[in-house]
This record gives sequence, structure tokens and C-alpha cells, in this order.
Amino acid sequence: MAEHAIALVAAAGAETGSNQLVYRDQTLQMEGVCIDTIAGAVPTPFYCYSSDAIRTAYLTLSAALKPIGASVCFAVKANGNLSVLGLLAALGSGMDIVSGGELERAESAGVPASKIIFSGVGKKRSEIASALEVGIHQLNVESEAELDAVIEVAGALGVRAPVALRVNPDVDAGTHAKISTGKKHDKFGISFEDIPALYAKALAAPELDPVGLAVHIGSQILDLSPYRSAYSRIADLVRSLRSQGLPVRRLDLGGGIGIPYDHGSSPDLGEYAKIVGETVGGLDCELTVEPGRWLVGPAGILVAEVLYIKETADRLTAIVDAGMNDLMRPAMYGAVHPVFPLKQVRQGSHTYQIAGPVCESSDIFGTYSDLAPLRSGDRLAFGCAGAYGASMASTYNARDLAAEVLVDGDRFRVIRRRQTTKALLTLEEETEWHGSPSTLR
Ligand SMILES: *Cc1c(COP(=O)(O)O)cnc(C)c1O
Repeated sequence: MAEHAIALVAAAGAETGSNQLVYRDQTLQMEGVCIDTIAGAVPTPFYCYSSDAIRTAYLTLSAALKPIGASVCFAVKANGNLSVLGLLAALGSGMDIVSGGELERAESAGVPASKIIFSGVGKKRSEIASALEVGIHQLNVESEAELDAVIEVAGALGVRAPVALRVNPDVDAGTHAKISTGKKHDKFGISFEDIPALYAKALAAPELDPVGLAVHIGSQILDLSPYRSAYSRIADLVRSLRSQGLPVRRLDLGGGIGIPYDHGSSPDLGEYAKIVGETVGGLDCELTVEPGRWLVGPAGILVAEVLYIKETADRLTAIVDAGMNDLMRPAMYGAVHPVFPLKQVRQGSHTYQIAGPVCESSDIFGTYSDLAPLRSGDRLAFGCAGAYGASMASTYNARDLAAEVLVDGDRFRVIRRRQTTKALLTLEEETEWHGSPSTLR
């Protein structure tokens, strides 16, 4: 956790870095809705997303990718809310999933199985079976053991499984260690050298239809050069496989495009498309990209209320009613989300550490300079919280899962009600013992 104070705070009249999140008359608004109005109807903490921001992001990305003919599969793990998925599905987005649960979510949102790619290093046989039964577009396989499992499951179901092999290109994505996935020692993908033999094995198996290769080097990538290295290596691999008589029709280029959490700038999508075009564009493959964060991250905020201002010898701490269970990124990755007071009512500039209520020392959002004086009862919004926010939340400390709200124009709607402890307790009631009493002693 960065201990130094950082100036991430929107001072009066300053930019929030988003077209959909703006101050009007000193009050924070998302599109045409005043966030404080939502807070009057939905208890804090809650997540709030801008439909317009998600739509605009999707349309911007697909326009940038159009010249290279790449399609988009949204990485559901970034934000799996049914309404968010439905919004993207209506625009034509496919989905990239990593579990049977995400398959259920994507299907519930009306995404056809022919637009769903199943990634992930640890698929259970039951999950592989569900995916094959619905006619999934592609299973991205990450090991020989998994390939064997797919052969077995497809054989039992009497279907031919479309598989891509996920390559570990041994490229450093230049991102946080916990979200780097394309280096040799990361747990993801199949090493470069092992691909040809496995691809040949897949081609020889009547249960499999080896369609191509997949790669995903990591997340929150701001410098695009690792993509060029990874995609160049993939292009070499495609040429080498083809020279051995192994057909490659599809390339899944993964996600990972970063967003500016600190008001910096986003990678240039035109530049990204150019890299794709120059590396794998001429291979006559169907291309897919799988962004998660870039599509939904900037569209969301987490709204919290200040409970207490705690003054100690060396600092002021604002304790808020949202915690690491709601937004895990600060504790897990040392991430710092920008903070916006819902109302700009006071003048002055103070430095506050903002902390949550969870009983862990790591439940700290960050230390923020340039905050106008805070008081108990003030409400704050943490920005850039639309990705890996609600989807990573837990009920640790028996805290309810926060509600989620969607704004569209001048309307808002609760798209997930708060999950209460009472609802969770029903899963723990009426348990029964199994086995004979003697084994219980
Ligand atoms: C997580 C993940 C993504 C999405 O990553 P973002 O950084 O959110 O774009 C895409 N593909 C795979 C295989 C992933 O695991």
C-alpha cells in the first residue's frame, strides 16, 4: 500500500476523468442522476454504473477493432451483473467466461453459446460438460491434463469439442505481479515448446476440433509493447504449426487493456489495433479480444458514507462504511481508486487516510491529499470501480453484499438487491450429519 499521499481527489470544478460522472452545482451526478438522490433510496455502500459509459466503451472498442476484423468477448469476471451483461449482449458482445457459474450468467443474459468462450486454468469436468452441452463456441485449454479431460467428457457426450490451446508466450506484461499471467512461471497457459505436440494430439483425437490458439498475458496493461511481443510470438507459432500441417483458424488475443485509475491516459486503441494488425493480421485467422476492465471499469463507482473521523497523533483517518469486502483491489493489489465527495460544500485541503470497517489492517482505500474537510455523514464515491469491484466482493465480517445500481439517462434502477445475512443464514439452517455416530467422536 502506497503510504504517501496522492492527489487523486476531484477538487471543486475539477475533472472526474469521465464524461458520465460530473459535478453540477457542486453535486456529483452520473449522467442525469444526482448520486445523492440514489443514496437517499439505496443504503450505502452500493455500486453504481453508467449505461452510457459502458455502451460508449463497447462502441469505441468495436469501432477501433473493425479495420482488423476482430470481435469482442467481454470478460464476465470483471462484472457479471445480469443487467451489465444484458447491456453488452444487446450491443452484440460475446462473452469470455471462466466458470460454470459465469456460463449460467451469460446464458441468463441472453448470450448465445456460439458467442461464448470458456477460459480458465481449472475447469471441472461438470463445467466442461455443461459448456459442451449448450454448444459453446470454444474451450480454451490450459494443460495436457485438461485436454485429456475434454476428450473424455466430449467422448461421453458424443460431441466434438472446439478447443483452442492457451499459449504461455513467456512475456512480461509489465503489470502487477498478481495480475501477470503470461510469464513462464505463471500458472497459466501451455509453454511454447509444448504446443505443437499437443496440437497434433488434439487434431488426432476424434472428440476434438482444434480451432486455434489463445493468449492472455495479464491485466491492467498500460504500455502496449508486451502485446506486440506476445502477438509476434503467436504469429510465429501459427506459421510453425501450419508448416507442420496443423491448421489454425482462430486466434483469441485475450484482454488486459488498462484504464487510468489516476487520471492518466488510457492506452491508445488505434495503436492496439495497429499492433494486432501488424502481428497477426495477415494470418487469415478469425480474431477475438477479451477485454473486461477496459469496458466497464471507468463506468462504475462505489458509494460510501463517512462514519467517523479519527484523529491520531500523525494523521486523520476517515472511516467509511465500505470496506475491503466490497472493493478488494486496494488490499489485494495496492490499487488506489480516485475519490469524489458527493457534495462539494466545504473549502480547504486536508490529507486523509480512508479506511473501511473490516477487522484487517489492510482494509485501507488509500491516503488522499487535497480533500476538503470531511465530516461524519458525508458521502464519497470511489471511482473506476466498475470492474473487479462487485464481482470480487465477499461477505467477510458478515457484511452484506452491496447493492448494484444502473443509471441510464435521468433514470436509475437497482440491478442487484443487497444480499442480506438473513438470506445467507438460510443456507446454514437445517444441516444434517452424515455417517454413523461413532465416526463423529
Ligand atoms: C481476466 C481475463 C480477461 C480480462 O482481463 P481484463 O484485464 O479485465 O481485460 C481476459 N481473458 C482471460 C483469459 C482472463 O483471464
